[in-house]
Amino acid sequence: MQLGIDGVTKRFENVIAVRDIHLDVAQGELVCFLGPSGCGKTTLLRLVAGLETPDAGRIRLGDADVTNVRARDRNFGMVFQSYSLFPGMTVARNIAYGLACRRWPRERIPERVMEMLDIVHLAEQAERLPSQLSGGQQQRVALARALAPEPRVLLLDEPLSALDARVRATLREEVRRIQRRLGITTIMVTHDQEEALTMADRVVVMNDGAIEQVGEPSELYSAPATAFVADFVGAMNFLNARAENEGRVRLTEDVVIRCANWRTDAHPGEPVRLAVRPEDARVGPASGRGSDAIGARVDWIEFLGSSFRVDLHIEGSDSQTLRVELSANAMRERGLVEGDAVAVALPQEHLWVYPA
Ligand code: ATP
Repeated sequence: MQLGIDGVTKRFENVIAVRDIHLDVAQGELVCFLGPSGCGKTTLLRLVAGLETPDAGRIRLGDADVTNVRARDRNFGMVFQSYSLFPGMTVARNIAYGLACRRWPRERIPERVMEMLDIVHLAEQAERLPSQLSGGQQQRVALARALAPEPRVLLLDEPLSALDARVRATLREEVRRIQRRLGITTIMVTHDQEEALTMADRVVVMNDGAIEQVGEPSELYSAPATAFVADFVGAMNFLNARAENEGRVRLTEDVVIRCANWRTDAHPGEPVRLAVRPEDARVGPASGRGSDAIGARVDWIEFLGSSFRVDLHIEGSDSQTLRVELSANAMRERGLVEGDAVAVALPQEHLWVYPA
């Protein structure tokens, strides 16, 4: 079902937890609220759920205004970080419980429970107690329990955060597959950018109670609207520089480079932040240095498996560091070692300029 958030604000004493949020979530879409601790993402989810009441604004479900509808009457499914299963009930009874509460016809319940257990691949564990399951399995039961009553919207609050990395990666994919298969409108809160980028149709990046940017994962990564998004989503270098005219910035006394993407109207001579992703810098031999290339020295090399992370000290820039990522093949070809002098080219289409 389509969900709308219209100008929602929420205050707690002297904190504005959520400020004037506008967002439409389409039927069947998976939207992630992403942001650092305290940015308001959980409060926004709780407002959608009906667990908090907004100070201003409305929540819409389809054409209906549900702002004043109680949480339990909204028919939303919820999954939290803590699995919150009933410890004394079997897996099957945990799932059946919610159906009974919602007055599902008694004779339909066993069939629905089995259907849900099949979806989360736990049919064989139906008679176990939660304590006899792994964390990942318990969270799948929590998901099955939330989905069993055919909720209109699914709300997930950091559902994978308590799990170890490997289980998290598997479950991430599984949750996404189930969500797509059922076509259920879903909002997920996470502080983990990888989780948001891999699972969401669209990501809402939040900062200090407000939305910084809403977009598809690839769009946030390749065109971050603000320095906050650039920093929070993926790895990014920020270099101190000064604006010049004609879309260029001065990085050092003798290096001026052209930049395609400006997110500031700084005048020539004013300080700016120049942003570039580690994989977008091109590293070549110092001897081939062109007029727009940057002289640098290899300070540190770290092996990451399929690639290398190389920290470069930029010459003549108050020892600013540029972190680049080079594939193992590129690294072999160049045979870089710590202390080497290199020339770095920064392609203008991959450069972003933000206010200082
Ligand atoms: P986290 O990832 O740490 O849970 P979050 O992004 O989900 O963070 P919220 O929990 O929504 O952030 O909190 C947003 C702000 O509102 C914070 O400053 C928090 O301290 C405050 N806040 C949240 N709930 C309450 C409450 N019940 N009473 C008072 N302040 C609250």
